[in-house]
Amino acid sequence: MTVQTTEMTYQNFINNQWIASTSEDLIASINPANSKEKIGYVQNSTREDVDHAVKAAKHAKKTWRQLSGAERGNYLYKIADVMERRHEEIAETLTKEMGKTLPEAKGETSRGIAILRYYAGEGMRETGDVIPASNRKALMYTDRVPLGVVGIITPWNFPVAIPVWKMAPALIYGNTVVIKPAQEAAVTAAKVIECMEEAGLPEGVVNLVTGRGSIVGQGIIDHPDVNGITFTGSNSVGKSVAEGAVARGAKYQLEMGGKNPIIIADDADLDEAVEATISGGLRSTGQKCTATSRVIVQEGIYAQFKEKLLQRTREITIGNGMDDDIWMGPCVNEAQLDTVLSYIEKGKTEGATLLLGGDRPKDPELENGFYVNPTIFEDVRPGMTIAQEEIFGPVLSLLKVSTIEEALEVANDVPFGLSASIFTKNTDNMFEFIDEMEAGLVRVNFETAGVELQAPFGGVKDSSYGPREQGSAAKEFFTSIKTVYIKP
Ligand code: NAP
Ligand code: MG
Repeated sequence: MTVQTTEMTYQNFINNQWIASTSEDLIASINPANSKEKIGYVQNSTREDVDHAVKAAKHAKKTWRQLSGAERGNYLYKIADVMERRHEEIAETLTKEMGKTLPEAKGETSRGIAILRYYAGEGMRETGDVIPASNRKALMYTDRVPLGVVGIITPWNFPVAIPVWKMAPALIYGNTVVIKPAQEAAVTAAKVIECMEEAGLPEGVVNLVTGRGSIVGQGIIDHPDVNGITFTGSNSVGKSVAEGAVARGAKYQLEMGGKNPIIIADDADLDEAVEATISGGLRSTGQKCTATSRVIVQEGIYAQFKEKLLQRTREITIGNGMDDDIWMGPCVNEAQLDTVLSYIEKGKTEGATLLLGGDRPKDPELENGFYVNPTIFEDVRPGMTIAQEEIFGPVLSLLKVSTIEEALEVANDVPFGLSASIFTKNTDNMFEFIDEMEAGLVRVNFETAGVELQAPFGGVKDSSYGPREQGSAAKEFFTSIKTVYIKP
């Protein structure tokens, strides 16, 4: 689409210059709460633009690497300060661009700021070990060295947090960056990059190229001068990242889908379990990789739990996330809405019982948004499509079990293993769950969603590949170890 350039048009950021794509073509960013409203336009970039950005990052990598960790950390502190000053504006853009409610967007923006400060501090922490050498007079130690140019490909569901939790460690450990954010969240990403520019980050250290995954994303994957690729998104795209990276020997890391269970044991605190199920499953319209989608309930508490869950879910207010009294916003776009509705149809045809929702809200004011009502199924069997595949929408499936052993069997019976939780007061149940659950994150009496930036994050099975993200674990991907031997 070619449109007149306006102040709402965001260009690529390469070598600290905002420049248009060689395509001279733009992509509109739409408000999912009102598809008639455009949030802005971003560049529909080409492989040439990717090449330009990679060249800039490659050129900058030596001087950036040669700064001390503390010096790089100072840049991150400055970026955090700029983001803090622009907090409101960034959060509002986020809500308007991808639909999550303003309080959630504010929380996410605050998290981005905290991540920057956490990694700023990492610049002054130890990077290696001294190892006793066989020659008593020699010094043998390890250090961490950057990969060089890191390619970052991100999804739309955490448009501030995910780009920041990849860029901040990439930078502090001495890498330069080319980032391609999701089209659905590229304006928000551009605002984060503006904060980096305003903080005075040196030329070429971070480069933004917006556009289509199949062109810009693939261009990053294939580029011979991109030394590492960190990707968060769907399993199908993750697979092409892996194939491309393996083909040319680049390091890669993948964070992908989930099908996260919550187990409600007979002795669970009923109110807390219900609130955690709703919050974990339906906040952000179920569009979190750690969202709860399978609710595995022991039979003794099933009837009570179901009744309370239905009652509390009926109270959810749906609408534009910018409005004060709204708890749940729309799906991110029409394709995602259609996907959710088609999974709901599949649930019905495969014999699950629809207890609540399953359709779009009737309110004419919501007509132009990609809304779907919170949906709850029961009589869901573990093999059904809605119990196996990631839906990425506000759909909960209730599965009734008699024992905790059975609950764990059902919980593990999926290809994914990102996050899982149990509600119980019994310590045997807790430890059995912690031992047996195949997931990268296990949470006892907490909802499945929500992660802390100072702790490692990632999954097992089809959910992740490669080293963990976040916390100090992030250095495993963003650096390699150099072992040094010195004989004076
Ligand atoms: P997606 O479709 O896989 O897109 C992710 C990114 O990859 C986007 O920037 C996309 O660009 C790009 N892309 C698409 N096709 C590509 C290709 N052929 N080559 C290279 N890049 C390509 O995922 P999404 O719909 O944005 O996000 C939802 C998914 O992310 C869910 O599966 C969710 O579970 C997962 N997720 C995982 C985590 C985690 O940490 N485990 C966190 C959040 C989300 P476009 O702009 O063209 O889409
Ligand atoms: Mg949008």
